[in-house]
Amino acid sequence: MSWYSKIYVFVREYRKRHPFTGIILHLMLNAMLCLQICGIVYGYYCYVFLTCFYWLQSGIQIAIYLVIYHSLCFMAIWSLFMTIVTPISRVPAEYHADNDTDAKLKACTPVTGERYFPDQSDANQVEEQNKILNTFAMERGLTFVEVDHFNRLRYCYQCNLLKPDRAHHCSSCGFCVVKFDHHCPWINKCVSVRNYKFFLLYIFYGTMWVAFDLLSSLEVIIRFALSDHKNTWKRFVPVLGALFMHVAFTYYPLGELLHYHAKLVWDNETTCEQAKPPLIRGESRANYNITPYRNYRSVFGWGLWAFPVPTPVIDGLHYHVRYPDDYNGERYEVVCRGHGSGESDNNNSKSKSKSKSKTDVPAGGDAQPPTPTPLTTPIMTQ
Ligand SMILES: [Zn+2]
Ligand SMILES: [Zn+2]
Repeated sequence: MSWYSKIYVFVREYRKRHPFTGIILHLMLNAMLCLQICGIVYGYYCYVFLTCFYWLQSGIQIAIYLVIYHSLCFMAIWSLFMTIVTPISRVPAEYHADNDTDAKLKACTPVTGERYFPDQSDANQVEEQNKILNTFAMERGLTFVEVDHFNRLRYCYQCNLLKPDRAHHCSSCGFCVVKFDHHCPWINKCVSVRNYKFFLLYIFYGTMWVAFDLLSSLEVIIRFALSDHKNTWKRFVPVLGALFMHVAFTYYPLGELLHYHAKLVWDNETTCEQAKPPLIRGESRANYNITPYRNYRSVFGWGLWAFPVPTPVIDGLHYHVRYPDDYNGERYEVVCRGHGSGESDNNNSKSKSKSKSKTDVPAGGDAQPPTPTPLTTPIMTQ
């Protein structure tokens, strides 16, 4: 558990016992967001009122700078706003176990106090858990490709639900989140399937905004050096402070995050999966990497990819998977079977087929050891 998750858990527990004072602590979790907003306001004042309206001399130059600056500022703040106000993607009701299933499962799982330890189960318990979980998944018509290290469907003993593929329990929020990426303390919000695009756009426009401010303000240092220091230092020191702040923010967290997430989207991974790669049933080398173009498309959606508006092409619950082929080194792409499968397959029929065969994703119903997946009905190709 990360350091900030520990703070969130403490505040949540404290709030249960002390509802009124707990609200104050809960609001204080927004400290880093408030700090960010203060930095934005300070940077805006320094750039517009000091750099542009005091230090720069050319009217055309000022007009061009202000247009670029305000365009980037608008896009960054719009993206930040959308990241914050978009509701966290919670697991749908059909994945929640009924009381009977939950009780049966917990009865055959090692427990200490109120905490369950499914990884400490013996072989008989694993078999029993598998039976219960697979029966439940089949009854509900739920399909999964991910399993845990015991080849079981993934169950959250805190939320009492079967975790959809790529869903994880957020210890900061205290519940399971669909396509969980990470919980971001800078915005006090979970980054998951619905707001990931907005989060990426925020760090992209934010980095561009801060970098533009930094580069276009460097002229101020030269002008100050050539000026009469006695009369100008009062207007120079705040700009210098903003420049230092921008240097720091351009590198971290913005620049570093931008580089890190660009790589993650390229490989179709989440921050969480980088630390703990998903286990695809039947093939330990399978993953969600379905070519960079489609990886980016699954995040940025259709058309208006550059704007922080919802443009989803996936449902967040089902994903295309790529399996390696041992015989000729080619990789075959498949789609998860079942209701509401991920991205629309309209474009799949147009894609070039290099595959000689395709694999089908095992349904959630069978508890097999991780052996090569049987070749069955062709579904899609890349
Ligand atoms: Zn959970
Ligand atoms: Zn969270």
